[in-house]
Amino acid sequence: CGIVGYVGPRQSQAILLAGLSRLEYRGYDSAGIAVIDADGDLEMRKRSGKLKVLRDDLLAHPMQDGTTGIGHTRWATHGGPTDANAHPHLADDDKLAVIHNGIIENFSELKAELLSEGYTFRSETDTEVSAVLLGREYRASAGDLVAAFRAVAARLEGAFTLLAMHEEHPGLVVGARRNSPLVIGLGEGENFLGSDVAAFVEHTRNALAIGQDQIVAITPSGVEVTDFDGNSVEVEPFEVLWDA
Ligand code: GLU
Repeated sequence: CGIVGYVGPRQSQAILLAGLSRLEYRGYDSAGIAVIDADGDLEMRKRSGKLKVLRDDLLAHPMQDGTTGIGHTRWATHGGPTDANAHPHLADDDKLAVIHNGIIENFSELKAELLSEGYTFRSETDTEVSAVLLGREYRASAGDLVAAFRAVAARLEGAFTLLAMHEEHPGLVVGARRNSPLVIGLGEGENFLGSDVAAFVEHTRNALAIGQDQIVAITPSGVEVTDFDGNSVEVEPFEVLWDA
C-alpha cells in the first residue's frame, strides 16, 4: 500500500518510519522495515497493526540501523493481516528483502514452479513469490541484482510496485513498476523512492516519475532507469509544489 526506500549517508530507520507515517492516509493493516546495517547484515522488523505497534516494538527491541533501507505499509489482498504476511519478505538466506504494492496475478503458477524446485515459503502472500523468485534469479545471474530484478519483473503479471535490496549490495535499492505508481526523490548525496511523493517530500522536492514497465536503481550518487529489457529511458523531472 505505502512504499518508501532510502540510500544515502543517514541512518534510515527514522526516515523510513516518517515516510510511512506520511503515507498512512492511504490506510493499511501492517507495517515493516528492513535496513542493511553497518556490519553489512540485513535487519528486518514487521508487525501487523498500526505503525505505532512497529515503532513500539523497535523501541523495546532496537535493531541495528543502516544507511540503506526500505519500508512498507500493507493493505492485505492475499493472506490475512498477520506478522508473517507483513512485508518485507526475505529470500536468499535472508540476505534479500522485497516489498510490494499491488497484486501478482500469476503468483500461484510461479509458486508451484518454485515449490517443485524445493523452495519454501513463510507467508500466504503473492509478494513472497516475487521475493523467492528474485533470490533464485539473483543466484542464476551470479549476483547481479538489477539483471535478476529485470528477469523477475518480466515474469510477473498484474499490478506491482516492487522494491528490493540485498546485503551484498549496500547502497543500492532497486524498484520496478507496472500498473502501480513509483516516484524517485532526488536528494544531495542521497536518493529516495516512494509510492507517492509524500514518502520523501520533507527531504526533497525534486522528483522523477517512473513510467509504465520500468526499473530503477538508486544509489547515494545517482539513479538509473531502464525498461524491462535493460534499455535506458529518459524520465521527466518535476518539482513537488504542495506544502510538506
Ligand atoms: N498483495 C500484497 C499482499 O497482500 C500487497 C498488498 C499491498 O498493496 O499492500 O501482501
